[in-house]
Amino acid sequence: MTASPGAYAEIVVDLPVGQPLTYRVGDAEQEAQPGTCCVVPVGRREVMGICVGRSAEAAVADEKVRDVKRWLGDVAPLDAHWLAFTRFAADYYQHPWGQVAVPALPPLLRTPPGPRWASSLKRARNACAAEAGATPASAVVPEPNAEQRAAVDAISAREGFAPILLHGVTGSGKTEVYLTAIERLLAGDPQAQSLLLVPEIGLTPQLQARLHARFAKQTIVCLHSALPAAERSAAWLAAHEGRARIVLGTRLAVFASLPRLRLLVVDEEHDTSYKAGDGVRYSARDLAVKRAQLLGVPVVLGSATPALESWAQAMQGRYRLLCLPRRATEAAQPRVELIDQRLHKAASGLTEPLRVALEQTIARGEQALVFINRRGYAPVVACAACGWLSACPKCAVFAAFHKTDGALHCHHCGWRSRVPRACPTCGNQNLDAVGHGTQRLEETLAAALPGARILRIDRDSTRRRGAADAALAAVHAGETDVLLGTQMIAKGHDFQRVSLVGIVNADAQLVSHDFRAPERLFATVMQVAGRAGRSGLPSRVLVQTRYPEHPLFAALCRFDYEGFARSQLAEREAAGMPPFVPQALLTAQAKALEAALAFLGHARALGLGLSEPATLYDPVPMPLARLAGVFRAQMLVEAPRRSLLQAFLREWLARLHEADAPPGPRVHWQIEVDPQEI
Ligand code: ADP
Ligand code: ZN
Ligand code: ZN
Repeated sequence: MTASPGAYAEIVVDLPVGQPLTYRVGDAEQEAQPGTCCVVPVGRREVMGICVGRSAEAAVADEKVRDVKRWLGDVAPLDAHWLAFTRFAADYYQHPWGQVAVPALPPLLRTPPGPRWASSLKRARNACAAEAGATPASAVVPEPNAEQRAAVDAISAREGFAPILLHGVTGSGKTEVYLTAIERLLAGDPQAQSLLLVPEIGLTPQLQARLHARFAKQTIVCLHSALPAAERSAAWLAAHEGRARIVLGTRLAVFASLPRLRLLVVDEEHDTSYKAGDGVRYSARDLAVKRAQLLGVPVVLGSATPALESWAQAMQGRYRLLCLPRRATEAAQPRVELIDQRLHKAASGLTEPLRVALEQTIARGEQALVFINRRGYAPVVACAACGWLSACPKCAVFAAFHKTDGALHCHHCGWRSRVPRACPTCGNQNLDAVGHGTQRLEETLAAALPGARILRIDRDSTRRRGAADAALAAVHAGETDVLLGTQMIAKGHDFQRVSLVGIVNADAQLVSHDFRAPERLFATVMQVAGRAGRSGLPSRVLVQTRYPEHPLFAALCRFDYEGFARSQLAEREAAGMPPFVPQALLTAQAKALEAALAFLGHARALGLGLSEPATLYDPVPMPLARLAGVFRAQMLVEAPRRSLLQAFLREWLARLHEADAPPGPRVHWQIEVDPQEI
């Protein structure tokens, strides 16, 4: 018997297979549409799949083709754009399509439906319906200034694909621009949807409140990984079914199904949280731009310190650059000043000028923020007698001392152990805690500022659910004089009474091996500085450093992002680094370093003979060469152009998959396109 046209369905599943799998459509002619979710047998299991097409012929012998077990016709098919977009992402990041598409589905659609499927689906649909219009709120919308109006006009006027880089210091009214542009869009098109990406959802309750106040009549949903499964499924469905007009989410939301998506916004587009750290190493920012291009709609990337990749695109005329040069309110920019640590000793982490400034701030009834990028009490414990240093037994790093539980902690693998009473090597009983983390600085501040109300916020102090929100609420309520913390306090918060920011340990990043470290330091300091003087108080940012002559600081003191970006890009161009040269990184993990390096050597040999020209560097141990007992090595790959790199990777990885691994211990490997850390 010959098969009728379209008798087979091509189905992608969350398994490491290169091509979609073929199944028989049978009598499900109507339901077997591209984009429809289904349950298929794979080996002895049943897994979820997505139909990506129909075909008249099977790639394998007809009798080997199995039937689709069940079509989930009660969920509308994913649209052609979504399929094309996830396919692009999979190809670009060199991953099987199904391993990008299926994990992008909500929990409800990731496992084969059980007996309660219909009621779960109904509950998910009702959950979001109930939320719409529940909170009647009103917002005082400020009259936009000239620059904001120009930005909104530019975003709204664009027909077709329009990548826009919105460069504005913190407080310049970028968020106001996003919201006004979204407002116009939703008012002008009763079905249009918008996607607003933020780096971290937990830290933006204020943005959520602002959205709800401004769009009281619209359904707004949040999508992020910390949501309980049922809520995430409900939010996803509301977006997929067009009920949600605004989706606010973290990087994973870039994959949301939004059939009427007309505007994408990536706030704080430079933030490294947009880059996924495991699985498919995608950049949600880059994918947002691609998605806008596929859809032919505008995408706005906003930042006070754009990623140099984005800035270069704007300089080359590929992104339209819009600037908000001033703070939107009366508030002036804080003054950035350096404290030369060669002149002012930072005993226990704090210099005298910073201490005095803190004291004066508190005396005026204002608040201060002290930023340090290390948690724990001290990064390492040392024996002065023999030179022993506390190290994690499983990683190639030092273990930090936490005074709160008297233990050594590895911040990379989570290993913990009581601090030894005496040096394990020589028996010396006087071990020293070396360097400063948040806990030690908290102690220092308490001693230096008697009576001050000091609050520490870091990952350790906010482990309990809701602890971070409670701490931040205390700051907003004025119950805190000095807020001390890590990166967590740098992002997004609109602290009204903060007039002093102290940056205690900027130098660690100046002397880093990573060529992106200066860019990150600049962004961090600008961001922390953005927390000061929001309500109009004259404010200062004090940076303690041993390298006050460093050009980065000169640019910082002038708030001169453009000058900084220009010099960094010139350096990168001269050195042949991203964004001028695209890169990929092949990493290998094994129980022995030699095995990881040998695998990369074998991969390198395979790559050297290929038709597409690429530069394959020598395999080297990763900067963190051992993590949780596993050795790690890497090899950098470069090509003159992105398309050439893509072509090379396709051919090379196909060979690598086919070739026999070199003999020896098992090696795990993965490829990362556009790596952010090398
Ligand atoms: P950003 O996102 O750039 O940090 P926001 O949009 O959050 O800036 O604006 C910072 C503050 O300024 C907010 O309190 C906002 O309400 C206010 N604001 C924004 N635009 C204006 C304006 N045109 N007039 C007055 N206040 C404004
Ligand atoms: Zn010792
Ligand atoms: Zn460890």
